[in-house]
Amino acid sequence: MNATAEAGKDRVIVGVDIGGTKMMATVFNDAFEKVGSCRKKSRAKNGGKSENRVVKVIKEALESAGSPAVAGIGVGSPGPLDPDTGVIIDTPNLGWKDFPLGDVLQDAFGAPVVVDNDVNVGTYGEWRCTKLCAHKHVLGVFPGTGIGGGIIIDGKILHGFSGAAGEVGHMTVMPDGPYCGCGKRGCLEAVASRIAIAKEVAALAAREDAPYIMEQCGADITAIRSGVLARAIDAGETMVESVVRRAAYFIGMGVGNLINVLSPEAVVLGGGLVEAMEDLMMEEILAGVEAHAMPFLRDNVRITAAQLGDDAVVMGAARLIAEHIGYGNTSD
Ligand SMILES: [Zn+2]
Repeated sequence: MNATAEAGKDRVIVGVDIGGTKMMATVFNDAFEKVGSCRKKSRAKNGGKSENRVVKVIKEALESAGSPAVAGIGVGSPGPLDPDTGVIIDTPNLGWKDFPLGDVLQDAFGAPVVVDNDVNVGTYGEWRCTKLCAHKHVLGVFPGTGIGGGIIIDGKILHGFSGAAGEVGHMTVMPDGPYCGCGKRGCLEAVASRIAIAKEVAALAAREDAPYIMEQCGADITAIRSGVLARAIDAGETMVESVVRRAAYFIGMGVGNLINVLSPEAVVLGGGLVEAMEDLMMEEILAGVEAHAMPFLRDNVRITAAQLGDDAVVMGAARLIAEHIGYGNTSD
């Protein structure tokens, strides 16, 4: 209750998005209007520590808002992490191992902090800050370099026993399929992520079956990003299109299975592939859902593309801390 009383009008909340390559902090007032922000690469060129950088990003975002007092900070970070303690267990990209991010930020800014997995937080943002907020059970699936998932049941993020629930990318969809980064074979991520698509498309390019891709990025898997795939399909590369469609169908298969288990009211699909090729991706995802979800569970489930783009995590993080401390008008 004290926190509610203290969250006066001129105090702000900060939503933070920590990614493997970039960090972003956005400052919101109690009407959830953006009043400042800062964005930086996650690692300095001179190899400075990532923890100093996240403090700096938040400080600069606050400065851009006129250095107001802070009521609370919400953070979305790559996992695995412990949402109860705010400890990041292991993120090789940032060099963090058993790193108490929540405590570090609480000490630096003298305000309460919540930390959660970035995909959970992004799903939370898409739920709380769009028309989906009318629903209580929402599944978020974000195909990109990997395939992340966030599950909201009864208005709460599902963390599970380990704290890491929602690894939808590591559902097995093809027992003898390609190897996944996790060491298993045939995970959804190994079959349908942007990297999985890029592997197959690079082989097409090397065989001269995808001349647009060959001309734009050669057979370099890391260069075959969602935008290039979209442009190749627009240029009429039918084999590239069929690879992307097949991957999207597998994502739909995964979503269909999750609908059978969780019975969400709404499913939100985001990430680079959906952003770059929304119509094509959604068409195949819906076909995959149609074929794999049970009719009774599938009926009336709202399946939609994400609306917030790069802002989903900072907005979700701000909502999470606001609701945690009773800040602002959190009912809308
Ligand atoms: Zn896996």
